[in-house]
Amino acid sequence: EQPKLTFDQFIRHWAQERPDNIVLEQGNQTISFRDLETRTRQIVAMLAQHGVGRGDRVAWLGKNDKHYFELFYAAARVGVVMVPIGWRLAGPEIAYIISDTGAKILFLGTGFEELAQKACASLDNPPEVIGQEAALAEIAAAPADEFAPAGPDDAVLQLYTSGTTGNPKGAVLTNRNLFSLRVPSQEEGQPWSHFDEDEAILVCMPCAHIGGTGLGIMAMGAGIRSIVQAEFTPDGVLDAFEQGITRLFIVPAALQMVVQHPRAKDTDMSAIKYVLYGAAPIPLDLLREAVRTIPEAGFLQCYGMTETTGTIAALPPEDHVLEGNQRMKSAGKAVAGVELRVIGEDGQELPRGEVGELVCKSPSNMAGYWNLPDATAGSLRDGWMHTGDAAYMDEDGYVFIQDRIKDMIISGGENVYPAQVESAIYGHPSVGEVAVIGVPDDTWGEAVKACVVPKPGTEVDPQDIIAWTRERLAGFKVPKSVDVIEVMPRNASGKILRKDLRAPYWEGRERQVN
Ligand code: ATP
Ligand code: MG
Repeated sequence: EQPKLTFDQFIRHWAQERPDNIVLEQGNQTISFRDLETRTRQIVAMLAQHGVGRGDRVAWLGKNDKHYFELFYAAARVGVVMVPIGWRLAGPEIAYIISDTGAKILFLGTGFEELAQKACASLDNPPEVIGQEAALAEIAAAPADEFAPAGPDDAVLQLYTSGTTGNPKGAVLTNRNLFSLRVPSQEEGQPWSHFDEDEAILVCMPCAHIGGTGLGIMAMGAGIRSIVQAEFTPDGVLDAFEQGITRLFIVPAALQMVVQHPRAKDTDMSAIKYVLYGAAPIPLDLLREAVRTIPEAGFLQCYGMTETTGTIAALPPEDHVLEGNQRMKSAGKAVAGVELRVIGEDGQELPRGEVGELVCKSPSNMAGYWNLPDATAGSLRDGWMHTGDAAYMDEDGYVFIQDRIKDMIISGGENVYPAQVESAIYGHPSVGEVAVIGVPDDTWGEAVKACVVPKPGTEVDPQDIIAWTRERLAGFKVPKSVDVIEVMPRNASGKILRKDLRAPYWEGRERQVN
């Protein structure tokens, strides 16, 4: 049997094999695989009535919604490209994405009419805007006809990168990109890629990112249920544990809120099988706390990027050992089907243990950035995605992500990776959140600065933080100064915006980036 690689193949397959099983659940509403087969046909017909077909773009502005997922799955069956837009973005940022994609229709989640109007007002070629109720009525009235399905190499999803280092870029992803690593398998050494029929996956991260939409795709492809929550809240996740979810994906900032929630200790977590986490560096002490708080779960660190359709390396549960395990600092090994290398500035592979740029060859590598041929040529070379992340690999193929190359601090000729310094400072009892940045320094070129949000009810003494770090790290990594701040600037993916913290210190100067 040929491996299934398209939405159309998976939807037909599960509608036949598991017609009465639930594919999408939100609150007390559910959609079965049989319903999905019919409803996506109706949506395809509805899209055609609006003159939308293969290669066209449609956008979604709203929170996570089972309605979004059925629109996306339907569009993907015929190769209409879905562009989910982050609902926390401001009007002009939304307008930029809509005009960049040339979307023909903008579908709205409930309550987004005003934001959509604001965003579209400035556009020369505004899309047709369809609210949720109108869309549901049109779908219900549309015929469930046959259609010509899209192939494995047709684009189906355009996801914008998180915009952590600059403007978000639209990564164009095909059917093959989305399913090549996500087909359920009995891959040796990857027991987590097997799914039991009665499993349920929580989708609580935003659908505009691979950690949200990708989880829905994973569940649908595996023939199991997605439990969709409109947005992340620590209470929602704890409720979902009690509801019996077996897997979830969560970013470190959100994991911290869940495990430090007063309810966490009394929550029944007996059904959980895997906690997938990643998308940003995680402080070791936070990871240890999470493992202790959710002992029932196998923890799986996921490393990847939008451009690689998410996870390309994973740290398996057996490497999450609380004491004396260096591997717990690793982002794991290449998942089946992926090749990882660490290269030097000359593009040659470096010996194990040496830090360079991590590059990846994978069937999940994007087709390219939308409308950015130069950026595409710079990042995707001979099929290798250049991650922009500094890393080294040990003898066994475990990857140790240091940090983004752009965020590396060069102080007195020494390289300092902020994530390592953050991880050390995070262990201090009065530190709630911490970010480390490079600021201009006449003697050292750049000096290390820590920005700290105190834990509620505590005070942070900068000298104390400096002394704490000096006991744990080499002198050149110790912050020269500490800013106490009230709120950590983060984007919708929960990632720290170091560029925003750096900006006031670099005003009027050019920061050298490698
Ligand atoms: P932009 O590219 O627009 O600046 P972004 O890189 O944050 O934003 P994403 O594609 O969401 O956009 O994130 C990918 C990046 O996230 C990776 O390049 C890496 O720096 C970081 N990352 C992902 N997973 C991990 C992980 N497990 N550990 C450390 N960093 C990670
Ligand atoms: Mg990036």
